[in-house]
Amino acid sequence: MSDRAPDGGTAPDVADDGATGQRGHDDPLVVVEELRTYYESERLFGGDPVKAVDGVSLEIGRGETVGIVGESGCGKTTLGRSILRLEDVDGGRVSFDGTDVTTLGRRDLKDWRRNAQMVYQNPTSSINERMTVGEIVREPLDIHDWGTPGERRERVWDLLDLVGLRPEHYHRYPHQFSGGQRQRVGIARALALEPEFIVLDEPVSALDVSVQAKILNLLADLQAEFDLTYMLIAHDLSVVRHICDRVGVMYLGKLMEVGPTKQLFESPANPYTRSLLSAIPQPDPDAGADRITLRGTPPNPRDPPSGCVFSTRCPFKIRPAEHGDLTDEQWAAIEAFRGVIRERDQARVTVLERLKARLGIDDRFTPIDEIASELLEPVSFPDPVEGMLEEATALVADGNVPAARDRLREAFGGVCEAEAPEQHGIADGQVSRCHRHRPEYEEPGASRDGSGTILPE
Ligand code: ADP
Ligand code: MG
Repeated sequence: MSDRAPDGGTAPDVADDGATGQRGHDDPLVVVEELRTYYESERLFGGDPVKAVDGVSLEIGRGETVGIVGESGCGKTTLGRSILRLEDVDGGRVSFDGTDVTTLGRRDLKDWRRNAQMVYQNPTSSINERMTVGEIVREPLDIHDWGTPGERRERVWDLLDLVGLRPEHYHRYPHQFSGGQRQRVGIARALALEPEFIVLDEPVSALDVSVQAKILNLLADLQAEFDLTYMLIAHDLSVVRHICDRVGVMYLGKLMEVGPTKQLFESPANPYTRSLLSAIPQPDPDAGADRITLRGTPPNPRDPPSGCVFSTRCPFKIRPAEHGDLTDEQWAAIEAFRGVIRERDQARVTVLERLKARLGIDDRFTPIDEIASELLEPVSFPDPVEGMLEEATALVADGNVPAARDRLREAFGGVCEAEAPEQHGIADGQVSRCHRHRPEYEEPGASRDGSGTILPE
């Protein structure tokens, strides 16, 4: 246990300088600094790594529940697994209760793992189907040589009871259970070694709404009873809204915004958060995992956009001053054209596509002149802009897609595509990465969809 004084109801948290992460709590249990996890499976063949987690900093206070939200593939699971050291990380640091766990050797790591557990969306799917529920819950106790065999059995009964299962469930098999019951088994297993910190990876995503509420209540009860600290991963914003103290919004391996839950939902500062919130549709039982929808799909994580990772989809992207007189219609046409070229360029990034291109059998694409005439011809542009678009079209026609892409980025990308945004302190405990937070770019009402002021004070 920590010997720190309990916080005696002092003043509310104060935002830090915004440079090192988020101080949401004055007694951090988990401190994540600039964490990076890349998957390099294709590097052998010259492919770029997937930057699944790319420079995440975050503090999680003792007893706190921090939510992590973002579209599928943005790196939430990898972040959770990296914090628990279930993935090899490429950079950064994780400390737990003041100890740097990124440098622990095997022995110490095994000891530490008792303290930090993970609950998965389908907790029993990765587990041997031939094990009974009792054996599944007991396994961590066996691995860590916990107590005597008799004590372990006792402990499993207690754990089953704790999560609302009955003694006779001990000898049943997971496939005989409902989704909610299986999740209870996963929770019992995670609790077996009395951890302090649990990463809950979409723990209710696969469950019916009525069952979701029961499991979330169970998790809340357990947290209160055992002083647990949670990181709750979810793509469903309503789940995090109701049970998290703070929320981090992730996009393409980066935390775009972090803040106290109420603050984040009521005054989101980052364009991505704002897009996510505005994309919450009417309740639709069939929508399932697709309930968060934004225009377009996230870019290929092997080839993330330059500058701000959200720049290719951002409704509040800053237009370069030298093109300040272009109309929305002209911009929309240019962006659409650039989108086509970007997609085409990304085809390069997989091994197979590169091979096909080299062999000259890559003929799936509509000729670029046809696309240009479809997207650009209906719109008239000032001469210099027209010239740049023609130049890019010629480059693509010559097979030099990357050069066309670069040329267009230089001309039209602006600061959002040139520089990665820094993290700005917005309000108490709320931080956001966006160039719009810089005083020179704050333009209330500049959003394309007319949704008004972009930033709170
Ligand atoms: P999320 O949980 O937000 O859906 P993940 O952390 O599962 O996202 O994945 C982040 C990115 O890393 C995705 O592009 C995914 O395809 C990739 N990825 C995840 N696991 C692996 C792996 N073991 N090998 C290669 N790429 C992976
Ligand atoms: Mg996941």
